[in-house]
Amino acid sequence: RAKQKGRNTWHVYSQELHDELASRLEISKRLRHAIEHEKLTLYYQPQVDMTTRKIIGLEVLVRWIEDDGTIIGPDQFIPIAEDSGLILPISDFVLQNACKQLGRWRQQGFTDLRISVNLSGRQFQTPDLTKQILFAIRNAGIPAAYVELELTEQVLIENQESHTQFMHDMRENGITLAIDDFGVGYSSLSYLKHFPINALKIDRSFVKDIPEDKDDATITQTIISLAHNLDIGIVAEGVETEEQAQFLIERGCTIAQGFYYSKPLPVDEITQLLSQSNGVIPAKIS
Ligand code: C2E
Ligand code: MG
Ligand code: MG
Ligand code: MG
Repeated sequence: RAKQKGRNTWHVYSQELHDELASRLEISKRLRHAIEHEKLTLYYQPQVDMTTRKIIGLEVLVRWIEDDGTIIGPDQFIPIAEDSGLILPISDFVLQNACKQLGRWRQQGFTDLRISVNLSGRQFQTPDLTKQILFAIRNAGIPAAYVELELTEQVLIENQESHTQFMHDMRENGITLAIDDFGVGYSSLSYLKHFPINALKIDRSFVKDIPEDKDDATITQTIISLAHNLDIGIVAEGVETEEQAQFLIERGCTIAQGFYYSKPLPVDEITQLLSQSNGVIPAKIS
């Protein structure tokens, strides 16, 4: 009986594994098609100075729009794209288009805006990442100082050698670097002194339950102090409430990204936000 049960279990597991693989393959196929037919689009989420509610930057977040209008978020396809290598054409699309869009916004008079673009670890396996980035910036005719790249700690600890060169190349060209999802990677902090990093982005998981959760409050506060002491910038991710904003401001973190201010939005809606009241996000009427 036990054997039979075992066999059935194996069978179920194997079927699940098969389905999982088949669905990844299927998603890969559809994703390749989507890239070729330009079904990917960029959303932008404001980074806001919480003390003035003014938009100072925009994080670029990719979306996949299906033919029926369904929007697929990056968490559902970026990991698959990383495995299949499709992340490379996706990243190029994101970089080129985000830079061009910033160029358009600059022509419309929004000249102090910055864009933040997420980098994938896979991009470091391409020999010409630096060239690719510089080309996108020059092609769009925008100043490199208005482009920030976001890397996770995970990406940083893999392959430190090539990163050192890359990061110095970026800094030399005026491009800034931020550590994304800071605090959740299990890395040593020593890279903070080896790499030219401009800002830390406090992971959303710590912000979510402040100020009530005392541990999260302590961790958040400690990350803010760390950034201050290292003389680098600090951005809070995932701010959803006034209380979270107040807590952060009182502890010296004044820049945030989160649904409390704005969700990621398509170009037209961002342009509208930028145009109204000088890029200041209106206060919520409560
Ligand atoms: P991330 O870089 O940490 O981006 C922030 C994510 O948090 C975004 O999810 C954003 O919508 C979400 N978020 C922002 N504020 C709030 C909030 O107040 N509450 C909640 N619950 N969520 C909030 P999104 O757009 O689904 O992106 C997920 C991840 O996918 C990103 O995390 C990033 O790692 C990756 N990603 C997105 N676009 C790209 C891309 O172009 N290239 C690469 N390599 N990765 C990308
Ligand atoms: Mg990011
Ligand atoms: Mg993040
Ligand atoms: Mg993330």
